Amino acid sequence: MKIPFNKPFIAGKELHYIAQAVMVESHLSGDGPFTRRCHQWLENKLGCARAFLTHSCTAALEMAAILFDVQPGDEVIMPSFTFVSTANAFVLRGAVPVFVDIRPETLTVDEEKIRQAVTPKTRVVVPVHYAGMPCAMDEIMETALARGLWVVEDAAQALLSTYKGKSLGTIGHLGCLSFHETKNIISGEGGGLLVNDPQFIERAEIIREKGTDRGSFSRGEVDKYTWVDIGSSFLPSEMVGAFLYAQLEQAEQIIAARRRIFDRYYHALRPLEEEGLVRLPLVGNESVCNGHLFYVITRSPEERTRMIQHLRKKGILAVFHYVPLHSSPAGMKYGRLAGDMSVTDDISSRLLRLPLYYEMRDEDLDRVVAAVKEFYGRGS
Ligand SMILES: *Cc1c(COP(=O)(O)O)cnc(C)c1O
Repeated sequence: MKIPFNKPFIAGKELHYIAQAVMVESHLSGDGPFTRRCHQWLENKLGCARAFLTHSCTAALEMAAILFDVQPGDEVIMPSFTFVSTANAFVLRGAVPVFVDIRPETLTVDEEKIRQAVTPKTRVVVPVHYAGMPCAMDEIMETALARGLWVVEDAAQALLSTYKGKSLGTIGHLGCLSFHETKNIISGEGGGLLVNDPQFIERAEIIREKGTDRGSFSRGEVDKYTWVDIGSSFLPSEMVGAFLYAQLEQAEQIIAARRRIFDRYYHALRPLEEEGLVRLPLVGNESVCNGHLFYVITRSPEERTRMIQHLRKKGILAVFHYVPLHSSPAGMKYGRLAGDMSVTDDISSRLLRLPLYYEMRDEDLDRVVAAVKEFYGRGS
């Protein structure tokens, strides 16, 4: 029996809610009853001024770049150790991604290096909460406020993680979520924009509706709707909202189950870390992490390659993560470096993600743990 890396989880009521949207509500386009329920859920659970479903986290990041009025030549500070959309959204507006290194303990962007990377051209900072682990948001917000910069959190992996009691995605001026099938809570493709600074609410609604004031029209505030600003089609259909709402209703249980798997991995592999054979994610700080992914960091890139092969022979799929953006063809063309990338280069060559999905059985997890231990010659 093979153990996959990821397996999308169906909470149960997805098709029922889609049928309800289609047959009962007869509302197929966006912003119907299910989309509104998702918005309310996000606003109440996370605590943001407004939430908007989008087609993806990528789309939400693109909306953020428009909302911040990012102009050609503006600089946007972000980690290189992230997914391409973090940078792409701003490159589409002509901006320059400025890559800074991550911190070795948390694998999130180094807040001190952000401070050093600020120039008169800097407009935006994008902290990425890798693996649902929070960036040092107090320090990042302090730098941003002192220098008049906007902050959008790439919280694609971070739904229901917290930082000092606050939900990730609700601390910056804006936050972006992903409901892609590889994330904890899914709608196939899907995302959300969290608006925390109320000054952006009205324009976010317009940009998401192709640059029209259709939202005001639907509420009867204007008697016709028209083109008022730039925008695009950023809102998903009601079928996506219906699917997602079934998942959101179960979100806390889904995340609790993932955290349990994360904790079991951690305790089972901790002896290897104590021996200095691997490094594990940092746990037990003042933040609560959502169990999005579990990784080990091997001692060398070569050891990682051998571990992947060893696990594959046992039918276990483990995968590495990002090619750092600063070393990608588009990253080199559109971005620039601020400082050296030694941690990013080093970690990205040694990090290995282990299987973690809602329906992972204890015996599957035990098999993965046993295979990792066996690789190091440590029997169970
Ligand atoms: C998954 C992911 C994205 C992209 O999310 P989509 O919903 O697929 O657009 C962006 N940033 C990070 C850090 C991600 O993990």
